[in-house]
Amino acid sequence: MTIDIIGAGIGGLTTAIALEQKGFKTRIFEQAENIKPIGAGIILASNAMQVYEKLGLRKAIEENGNSISSLNITNASLKPLSKMDLSYFENKFKVKNVAIHRGVLQQILIEKLSDSTINLNHKLNKVLENTNGHSLEFQNGEKIQSSTLLGADGLNSIVRQNLFFNNNIRKANQICWRGITKYSLPQKYQNELNEAWGKSERFGFVQIANNKVYWYALKSFKKNKEEFNLNKIEDYFCKYDSIIKDIISSTKKEQINTAEISDLAPINNWHKENVCLIGDAAHATTPNMGQGACQAIEDAYVLSECLSKYDLNKAFKEFQKLRLPKAHQVVKASWIIGKMAHLSNPILIGIRNQIIRLTPSSINRKQTEQIFQLSSV
Ligand SMILES: Cc1cc2nc3c(=O)[nH]c(=O)nc-3n(C[C@H](O)[C@H](O)[C@H](O)COP(=O)(O)OP(=O)(O)OC[C@H]3O[C@@H](n4cnc5c(N)ncnc54)[C@H](O)[C@@H]3O)c2cc1C
Repeated sequence: MTIDIIGAGIGGLTTAIALEQKGFKTRIFEQAENIKPIGAGIILASNAMQVYEKLGLRKAIEENGNSISSLNITNASLKPLSKMDLSYFENKFKVKNVAIHRGVLQQILIEKLSDSTINLNHKLNKVLENTNGHSLEFQNGEKIQSSTLLGADGLNSIVRQNLFFNNNIRKANQICWRGITKYSLPQKYQNELNEAWGKSERFGFVQIANNKVYWYALKSFKKNKEEFNLNKIEDYFCKYDSIIKDIISSTKKEQINTAEISDLAPINNWHKENVCLIGDAAHATTPNMGQGACQAIEDAYVLSECLSKYDLNKAFKEFQKLRLPKAHQVVKASWIIGKMAHLSNPILIGIRNQIIRLTPSSINRKQTEQIFQLSSV
């Protein structure tokens, strides 16, 4: 059986690797003309790293990234509101949480593929059902017959829009800037992710390699992201700790990536006959828990296990049964965190910060453990 995958993002590539290792043949179709490194980092949490351990990629990722031993929420002056020590999870799951450059991760994934071809410049325009499966129509004029199709084509998935209902993309009304800069954080921050919460905005930063820091900054807007100007980003965070101000000013403006934050309102059906959605195409989340790609990576593992054990129909059903509750839990919790993080009323901010400070670490640990635990297939 040849499995066709639309999209060579983290979800599509990891799925192709997992399927290859189970003996399936895959073809990947990607709209981009070439796979360009994105100027941003990514945090691969324990659940993702457990999958990469199974796929034989843990070592390469650890060697090319930087391990993170604490996830902290702070105020604008970097005074901690909560600290999540990750050593408990490292001991339990035997993997670290790793921050890495997205381009480096992409390269590691591409190099791990052995048989699969990545067909670049293949933007899927239309999927049409026929008696033998589906006909895929690409913008470059090619038409391909597919017997088994995976939509790994992200938030605005064409596979989902063509074949599934409920495509409600929700706007969080937050702008997000991401950048990478040559910078070495003070020793105490070297193995931590710190996210500083202010008023209707926040700033996160992490060391991803020697002398390389990845950062992201988000701000709420009323009507649209044009309310903000990248050239004024220093002003927006002028009341923050000097490390944050240094990080921003040391980043070349033309290398800062600007995006709007959205997710997909949870949908209850990810598969139909010989087609299945995975990753952001099925369950795009806001980035507030750093779990979007991790959930796509879990999909790759669970789906490849299901396909190797069951016939296609049962495999897709089992996959959805195993993955949907957790993926939706992440989407819902992440949406709420995004609202909490961007409160603007000083009284509510004070109450929120007090609640965060007083929440016992055992509660945070229990919730995180649920997210980090892989489903057994
Ligand atoms: C600001 C921000 C920070 C984030 N930080 C983290 C983090 O720290 N940790 C984490 O786990 N997640 C994080 N995420 C989420 C993560 O980036 C996504 O969940 C993840 O990239 C989803 O992977 P995917 O492969 O499903 O989709 P995508 O990455 O969207 O990949 C889809 C691929 O399909 C291709 N494609 C799209 N349409 C077509 C078409 N019609 N034809 C052919 N190809 C097509 C695209 O070009 C792309 O290559 C973050 C997201 C944001 C916005």
